[in-house]
Amino acid sequence: MSTDSIAGSAPRLIDADAPIENNKFKTELCLDTLDEIYVGGTWTRGGGAVIDSVNPATSEVFATLHGATTEDVDKAVAAGLKAVEQSGWARKLPHERAAVLHRIGTAIELNADRIAALQTLDTGKTLAETRALALSAAATFRFTASALETMEDAVTPPRGNYLSLSTYEPIGVVGAITPWNSPIASDAQKVAPALAAGNAVVVKPPVWAPWVSLLLARICDEAGLPAGLLSVLPGPGRTVGDALARHPDVGKISFTGGTSTGRQLGHIAAEKIMPITLELGGKSPTIIFADADLDQAVAGVLFGIFSSSGQSCIAGSRVFIQRSIYAAVVERLVKGAESLRVGPGTDPRTQVGPLVALAHRDGVARMVDDSRESGARILCGGAAPADQELQAGAYYLPTIIAGVANSEPICQEEIFGPVAVVLPFDDEADLIVQANDSVFGLACGIWTADYRVAWRIARAVSAGTVWVNTYKQFSIATPFSGFKQSGLGTEKGRDGIRSYMRQKSIYVDLSGAPLPWAGALSEPADSNLHSER
Ligand code: NAD
Repeated sequence: MSTDSIAGSAPRLIDADAPIENNKFKTELCLDTLDEIYVGGTWTRGGGAVIDSVNPATSEVFATLHGATTEDVDKAVAAGLKAVEQSGWARKLPHERAAVLHRIGTAIELNADRIAALQTLDTGKTLAETRALALSAAATFRFTASALETMEDAVTPPRGNYLSLSTYEPIGVVGAITPWNSPIASDAQKVAPALAAGNAVVVKPPVWAPWVSLLLARICDEAGLPAGLLSVLPGPGRTVGDALARHPDVGKISFTGGTSTGRQLGHIAAEKIMPITLELGGKSPTIIFADADLDQAVAGVLFGIFSSSGQSCIAGSRVFIQRSIYAAVVERLVKGAESLRVGPGTDPRTQVGPLVALAHRDGVARMVDDSRESGARILCGGAAPADQELQAGAYYLPTIIAGVANSEPICQEEIFGPVAVVLPFDDEADLIVQANDSVFGLACGIWTADYRVAWRIARAVSAGTVWVNTYKQFSIATPFSGFKQSGLGTEKGRDGIRSYMRQKSIYVDLSGAPLPWAGALSEPADSNLHSER
């Protein structure tokens, strides 16, 4: 099916006033028209395995999708190379590319409710959160467009009679491999800067949540992105994602996902000598000092671990509490966790939605059960909710675990669910040793009234992002990266676009004279003889 027939068979997404033609669930969410993959500007039935999409709130299959094949990867990459050349995308002036990105941002915003509903259906997240993610994706496109228009190349200080320049060029075709926990935001964080930089992008969305990426493709198409610059290939990571990373014409991979997958992709990048950005897992400490505003700290810690049902790379899953207030704070945290409303993401009262899938929920439960068997104390949660109406869904109660040492698996392994461990600490030195005793280094939260303490801990902790008396606040203008096994490279920020470009140096002679070594041997050596100074 061509893009024309897609556009003709469904309401135009870009128009906020477009009527949603009937009340049928699937039509409202455009699932009928998205039941195809997007390869090089063409909607087509994927030749790969059938993917059943399951609503985690009910465990019902709500849609079926035919995934991509490795042949689709070849087609998408070839189409991307051709599109970059034929559409003149890479040669367009920055403000011309920015105009398209602005239109995509606007179209995402106009469709925020539709995107939110689709993402809630696919991932179980609350509507409040998925709507915020959609708006954040719109903001990412707008910010990137604006940043693109302000980027400058440099005239570098010469050391001879020449002009020296440092410039940036697109890479060509970039692969974006994304996880299921915040699909629209992960997609935007890669697609916007990669396109801004003048590249084509092939997105490999996660099997558990492919729909929003397909909807984004349709939005980009209708917003006027030249065909072929974006492809979306749902399918298994080990075939489609692997083929994308290995493809000789893919010049960069930007990956967000688990550390073990990131390591495999890192090996492929090393073989190809290809740049790669890795945004990986975490086991982030949140730290409460005795002088902290405890209302603020308790609310922040609960939000930091239990929002998104803990399925967040930056979840504050290790809670360090100064020993003098440990018992009192733990009591408050447990009370707070027990009062959180667990339910479907579509219910506006819900604070903790289902996990993404029963298989994932069962994995989380196994880790908690293992720690219980090893002697940990489960202070609350530690089970699926008993409510009859939640039995079919992938629910798990907010869980707090005590009586464990930081060295134990429950404190060292990423759980990616609503599970926090609470650990006492004595002083700053003890705290830093424990907080940094992790293979991960993604984020950290510090709760204290003393800005000097906050400063010292913020500098000493090995984490890419530190929040002081707040948590999970994000600005697209602020770079994001993981330390240690939490990642490699940086996303977001003004320079995020640069990570999708190659840097080139150009030297232009201003002397008009032959270089003395070969051309004017009778002349005394001048500065050009010394090529490096
Ligand atoms: P995952 O690593 O299983 O999958 C991520 C993506 O990689 C999916 O699209 C998957 O299909 C693909 N993939 C899997 N195996 C592959 C392979 N061999 N080759 C190529 N692609 C492959 O991760 P997930 O379960 O989808 O997501 C959860 C993880 O993502 C957590 O560890 C979380 O911390 C991490 N995450 C990190 C950030 C960050 O910014 N640091 C943000 C969100 C999620």
